Amino acid sequence: MAVIAAWENQGCKSRALSCIMKEIFSHVSTYNIDLHLKYVPSCLNEADAPSRLTNTADSMLSEESWLLVESLYGPHSVDLMSLDSNVMKSSTGVPLKHFTPWPTPCSAGVNLFSQNLRSEQNPYVYPPFVLVFPVLSLLREQGISCTIIVPEMRPLPIWWPILKYYSVESGADIIIDWQAINDRTADLDERMTSSSDYKRKNSLFETFLCFLEKSPKKPSLATCGPNDVRNFLVWKDKFGKTTVHDINCQYLGLKGMFECSCPNRLASATVEGLINQLVNLFDDKGLGRTWCDVERKGNPAVSPVIKEYLKLVQVEQAKAHILPKQAKPIFLTKIRSISAFISRELQKDGSKLKEKFVLYRDQAWFKLQYFAGDRASDLSIVVAQEVKFLKDGSGFVFQHTFGKTLRGFILHPSVRTKALNVNKCNLPNYAIFVVPD
Ligand SMILES: [Zn+2]
Repeated sequence: MAVIAAWENQGCKSRALSCIMKEIFSHVSTYNIDLHLKYVPSCLNEADAPSRLTNTADSMLSEESWLLVESLYGPHSVDLMSLDSNVMKSSTGVPLKHFTPWPTPCSAGVNLFSQNLRSEQNPYVYPPFVLVFPVLSLLREQGISCTIIVPEMRPLPIWWPILKYYSVESGADIIIDWQAINDRTADLDERMTSSSDYKRKNSLFETFLCFLEKSPKKPSLATCGPNDVRNFLVWKDKFGKTTVHDINCQYLGLKGMFECSCPNRLASATVEGLINQLVNLFDDKGLGRTWCDVERKGNPAVSPVIKEYLKLVQVEQAKAHILPKQAKPIFLTKIRSISAFISRELQKDGSKLKEKFVLYRDQAWFKLQYFAGDRASDLSIVVAQEVKFLKDGSGFVFQHTFGKTLRGFILHPSVRTKALNVNKCNLPNYAIFVVPD
């Protein structure tokens, strides 16, 4: 009403309104327009009602919902789709950086789909419902994680599986069964500490700590140096059983205990093993696998002093004609001879049941070893569950997945599966011994 009056009266009391009127007048006269204003009450104005409806493009979360979203997944730094009027605010009340559909005074960029979002920190987006799919595609394409607000529609929209596929459980939703975790970790600890490997390592560790304790300078594990380690190795020598004979000793090159004054020491291979154990021990305690002589820091067991010590021990024992002990390899021909020998023994009359048991057991063992070709120690841990008889009873198949050479990974079953024909090998006693209890 005021505008119509101002226009018709060619001005009004309000200076601001008069200025606007002047601008409208110059516009109208420039383009030769005849402008007439008429007042239409709201109830008669057809354009009035739609203009007062809430536009879904302008929708935003209620303050309460936004606080919840912020507390669960926030803080967010950017609102990917909004207008200046409905941008979300940070906890300090400052509007977030936001992308708009058209240029606006506070916009950080026009059109979300032309933006590179990879540098954004924890974005938030509440897209118009028709744009959910394109927004999800954009996020997937750029590979960024984002908080997205979508309606739960029925029937399920086409983008729902994509959303489910990429969504991650929030901290608020996961259920943690601490009792189960504690039980499992306790079980693992128990298994670890009861392994022979762990006990051996631990006993060496304790002996070494004890040795340090009794050393004159009483160094700790972190402050001990290469010389402490070497002293320890020298002290360990007194438990050795290898006599290092003098070059003039009459027993030079002979094995066994003799009445000479030559010293007993650890065999050089044992010293090497001991050093390796110490290296691992220091490494386990966080000292790494390198030694810096200048800073006197790191793993003293890998220092040049220790390497030199090992070399000297090896040279000394080589000069004393000490041959390193090695496991005797058993070749297939030997197994065959042993089996033939046991067969002959079994055919003899008059042997006791106890003796026969041992012979049958060994016969089964060597024959299985012969035909399977597995490591002997691995065969000893085959369990009954891993052995299956063929239906016609002509043989059996076994498959094992754990052993010295298999530890830690599983080979394809066919690699480890051997079908042994009982009749063909003439092994009537197999069934008794290969399948224990
Ligand atoms: Zn001697």
